[in-house]
Formats: sequence, structure tokens, C-alpha cells
Amino acid sequence: DQSLCTPLPVLGRDVTVPLVTGGEVTYAALDYAASAPALQRVWDDVAAYAPYYGSVHRGAGYLSQLSTDLFENSRVTVAEFLGCRADDQVIFTRSTTDSLNLLAAVLPADCEVFVFETEHHASLLPWRDARVTYLNAPRTPGEAVQTLESALAGRDPYGPALVCVTGASNVTGELWPVRELAAAAHAHGARIVLDAAQLAPHHPVDIQDLDVDWVAFSGHKLYAPFGSGVLAGRADWLQASEPYLAGGGASRKVARRADGGVDVEWHDSAARHEAGSPNVIGVYSIASACKALTEAGFDSLVAREQYLIGRVRDGLAAVPEVKVLSLFGDDAPRVGVISFVVDGWNSSHFAAALSAEYGIGVRDGLFCAHPLVRTLLGSDPQSQGECGAPEAAPGEKSLNAIRVSFGAGTPDEHVERFVRAVT
Ligand code: PMP
Repeated sequence: DQSLCTPLPVLGRDVTVPLVTGGEVTYAALDYAASAPALQRVWDDVAAYAPYYGSVHRGAGYLSQLSTDLFENSRVTVAEFLGCRADDQVIFTRSTTDSLNLLAAVLPADCEVFVFETEHHASLLPWRDARVTYLNAPRTPGEAVQTLESALAGRDPYGPALVCVTGASNVTGELWPVRELAAAAHAHGARIVLDAAQLAPHHPVDIQDLDVDWVAFSGHKLYAPFGSGVLAGRADWLQASEPYLAGGGASRKVARRADGGVDVEWHDSAARHEAGSPNVIGVYSIASACKALTEAGFDSLVAREQYLIGRVRDGLAAVPEVKVLSLFGDDAPRVGVISFVVDGWNSSHFAAALSAEYGIGVRDGLFCAHPLVRTLLGSDPQSQGECGAPEAAPGEKSLNAIRVSFGAGTPDEHVERFVRAVT
């Protein structure tokens, strides 16, 4: 379709990999849901900054000042990207996992947490020290809202409560009804955190429009390199708690006491939870990626991605042995993350064959969402198996799946090669 935008330039486009059949081919990275390739623009921005690299919030030297400005301006860029409220805080973390563990560490005493069993482990597991209610997998977005409503109905609306939900599934790519879930949470006096690890690279995430209390995402899925993430949202719980990490940068004043101990006053700002020397390159690259995506425009990125989703789904639908995994059904809106199983094939062998024979990189396994994938495969969600499950006997259900995922940097040729390989 000529009206679609061209893919954004990313690193690794020209990397060639050997094929088992001899020769080599350019690598088709179709595992964006795990980590997306960095945008060339992000890499260029980082390279231009690298000679000026200096410590943040410490030195009076010119380069330290410059780095501090860059770091704090990145915070403003991310706040704009997320449409933050004036009194929200943007905290830089290591990843989505880190962001959600940080939020779990600042929950008020006796906080109840409500989370669907379908979540990625990063949003499923950090709450285990709180009073957690795990909600059963819904089969429609409407059922998700009803399930949450009923779970919240019985609670004391004056006690603290948090709902944690993923915006787009890392297994099915399906969008969750975030606005409706936020409304349900707020109607019952609960707050809500959005795991936007898979949503933010594909759709605008506006904290006010969605009316969520916090958003978490990772740089390495948003076309920035590894090592940095974001937790953005309401300041009050963050300010009321002990720092996530104790150390320099988080403390405003430290003094010995007469009794020999040490007194500490912590910062109230985002610095409270950013102890230690921050990852200024990682943070700057997130800000650069936010700018690049905003400039490219999500409307055209989404249009192009929907075209690619259509090509992959049509290709898979043409193979009778393929079953695409879906919680909400064929018509559910989704991002470019598609998991499937192939009758008669062990998923790990299938993924290995795509790599060896076609130079295509996909993922296989249970995608750090064991209960969800087991539910989708029709196996027991309570079973104890690990990722990289053993081969299913002929005629038995698959024990793991194959995931193909793509985004703003994916050229048509990668998707066409994948379709050719499976059909
Ligand atoms: N949530 C979702 C929905 C994810 O897909 C992932 C990464 N697969 C995470 C959280 C965790 O992200 P990270 O590994 O960057 O902490």
C-alpha cells in the first residue's frame, strides 16, 4: 500500500547470518516484543552526546552540568510523551520489571492488589508480599471489566488498593480495555498501574486520557538500548515511602546522631527512588526514542503495523496446521505480537528452523506468562512445567508456542519472508 509510511531506520538492518543450507541472508528480526532494535536516530543522538559524557547531579564541571541538563530534560520529554499531570513524577528505573517492583515496594500498609492471572510475570509477581487477588482469565474485554468490578465490589472502598494491568499482551498482542478498567478501579476507590511495556512501542500512551495512576515501560522495547525504564505517575505513595534503594542521590541530608546512629532526610522528588549514579545514556536514549516516535507520528506507524499484522495473520490462516493463540477472539484490536502453534511441530524446533533455514529470529516458549499460555494452549494453568517445555507426543497438545512480533522498524520483506516460510 503506497500510502503507508516507510519503516523507521533501525540498527542491524544489514546484519547477515549463515543459513544451514549454505550462504547467508540479512537477519529478519521478528522478536520485537522481547527487545526491539534501536532506532538509528537514537543511536546517532547517543553518539553525538558520548564525548560529553559526565556524572549527573554531582559535579560543577561543564560536562557534569551538561549531563545533568540532559538527564533532567529527558524527564520532561518522557512526561510530555506520557501526557503526565503537573504533579506526577517520572522515575527512571532499569526496566518495566524494576518499575513494577518499585511500585510494589511503596504500597501503603494493608494495600490490596488485584491482578489478572494472564499478566506477564513482571506484572503478576511483584505483589506477592501484599494482599493479592489473582483474577481468572477473561474471554472478552467486557468480561475483564466485569471480573474486576465484582472483585472490587466487596472491598472496603476507603482502604488502599491497586489494580495492575497490561495494556497489550506480550503473548496475543491483544489490547486490554484500559480506560474501562481504570474507571472501574476508581469507582471502587482503587488505583491502577498500566504495564505499557508492549503498548507504548505501538500506540500513544496518555496517562490522563487513559486515566491511569501510573505507567511503566522499558527502553529496550521502545527502540532504545537496554538498561533503562520508566515509572511515571502519582507522587503521593512514592513520597510517603522509604526509598526503593538507600544511597547517594536519594538523600538530602545525612548526619551522625549523638547516640552514634545516622539520621537521614530523603528527597521528595523522583531522586528519592533513583539512588546511585543514574544511567544517563539509557535515560537519554529513551527520551530520544520518545521524540522520534512522536515525530514519525503514531497514526502512520499504527497504519503500517496493522497492514503487517494483516499479512502475517492471512499467511498463518492459510496453513491448516496453524492455530493462532487468542484470548479475546479474531476481531480484537491488537499490536504486532502474534503467537501460534503448529500441529505436528515442536514449537522450539519450528523457531529453530525459521532461524536456520530463513534467517528469521522469533521466540518460542511460554513468554514469561506461564498461566496465560497454558490457558491458551488448553493445558492446566496450574501445571508446574518450565519454559522450553518438552516435545509434545504426536497428537498431543503443544506445551509451548511460537511468537512473531514486529514494529516501526520492520520492512515488508521480513514479514513476507516469514509468510513464505510458514506457508
Ligand atoms: N510486561 C510485559 C507485558 C512485557 O512484555 C515485558 C517484557 N517481555 C515486561 C513487562 C518486562 O519488561 P523488562 O524485561 O524490560 O523488565
